[in-house]
Amino acid sequence: MWRSRTNRDRKTVVCIACGDSVLRSAAREYDKEGNRWERHGKRFEHLCKECYRDLCHQPRGELEGLLVDIEEHGLSQTEFLTRYFDTVTERYESPEERER
Ligand SMILES: [Zn+2]
Repeated sequence: MWRSRTNRDRKTVVCIACGDSVLRSAAREYDKEGNRWERHGKRFEHLCKECYRDLCHQPRGELEGLLVDIEEHGLSQTEFLTRYFDTVTERYESPEERER
């Protein structure tokens, strides 16, 4: 006999990042092997939506502006990458990292 869907969907899982209990139906599966499609014999870990977003969708809003800032006509690829690296380091490095 089939259990009702609602019953199954009410199951909760624990987010591996923040430890919150979330409804299984609202959680995101996290496979540490990076292959969510091979399901055989695996137990998935779970992330809540918030943590999943932090993990997989780094903010990229500033990337375009940053590229425009460092772009300059005639810049070689190496120069461009060096600038890019320097700018990113300068802008996003946390204070602790800077002290090293
Ligand atoms: Zn979480």
